[in-house]
Amino acid sequence: MGSAIRGYAACSGDTPLRLFHFERRSPRPDDVSIEILYCGVCHSDLHGSRNNWGSAKYPMVPGHEIVGRVTATGSDVTRFTVGDYVGVGCMVDSCRACRPCGEGLEQYCDSGATSTYNNVDRHDGSRTYGGFSESIVVSDRFVLKMPEGLDLKAAAPLLCAGITAYSPLRHWRVGQGSRVAVVGLGGLGHMALKLARAMGADVTLITRSVGKESDALALGAHQVVVSTDEEQMAAVRAHFDLVIDTVPYQHDINPYTTTLAPDGTLVMIGHFGRLEPAVNSTPLLMKRRAVAGSYIGGIAETQEMLDFCAGHGIVCDIELIDIQQIDAAFDRMLASDVKYRFVIDMASLKNEVQT
Ligand code: ZN
Ligand code: ZN
Repeated sequence: MGSAIRGYAACSGDTPLRLFHFERRSPRPDDVSIEILYCGVCHSDLHGSRNNWGSAKYPMVPGHEIVGRVTATGSDVTRFTVGDYVGVGCMVDSCRACRPCGEGLEQYCDSGATSTYNNVDRHDGSRTYGGFSESIVVSDRFVLKMPEGLDLKAAAPLLCAGITAYSPLRHWRVGQGSRVAVVGLGGLGHMALKLARAMGADVTLITRSVGKESDALALGAHQVVVSTDEEQMAAVRAHFDLVIDTVPYQHDINPYTTTLAPDGTLVMIGHFGRLEPAVNSTPLLMKRRAVAGSYIGGIAETQEMLDFCAGHGIVCDIELIDIQQIDAAFDRMLASDVKYRFVIDMASLKNEVQT
């Protein structure tokens, strides 16, 4: 017998999210039950709710930047106890047997990791529902410890935006003196600036719009390059070791590949899908440059990222909202009108009049 709880669900692609009653399972032996305190709002939540990717199954309870408190544990759980502050990100399970899973790369599981919502539980076939809700039940292997000292509400977006920016910085060995460019200043971009700076890199923001300089410098950039300014772009030709492209829609990456030094890599982390115009291979061949992608990070690496952020005093810049404001928040995200992440205070759901 599970417990009846409330969340906010999308019921179609063109109607507002609304209150939704559903059930969470009782903890299995390896499960942790979590009361949700805060949940960040990711672009995926917006695209998923509005079925922009065509894969939505309704009702859908979005939310995969979850921070909460442990309320119960299964009999086999030893790493967590009631009262612990914990996090849950984009995945709640994987096959645990394939090569990527064995290497701590659950996000690249051969059979596909189980996403936190809009997916199906591998054991009982029930649908997964995300963090826009009062509580969640997750296998302990996919639960993160929130280190002491992190502001929990501002740390919630670390579970997706934070790890998505952190993993490529680590994979491409960014450190003291690395030359890193970040393309785009949104939820992902602002985290990439902070993290790259903390790793010792020389950090540049590349943006299409003028007027972001003071914000970017405050977030950790050493300089800002406006991509529509030919002179500024020429000054960084063949310059960067790593370009992190956070732009969440189709765009031309060719102006950025030429800013890579020999053996440099441009890594896409914001856009899923085709690139138009097509990528010109000539700049790639001529300096052995690479174009790559990266998707969130494994569970061990996510814990490493949380600990790194606690050690360096890094959290997200957030705007706290009530869950009743979620559709207005989605609209503002579409207009890039948020610095830099909305986070839902889940007390607003608990306080909603019972209906
Ligand atoms: Zn996300
Ligand atoms: Zn696997």
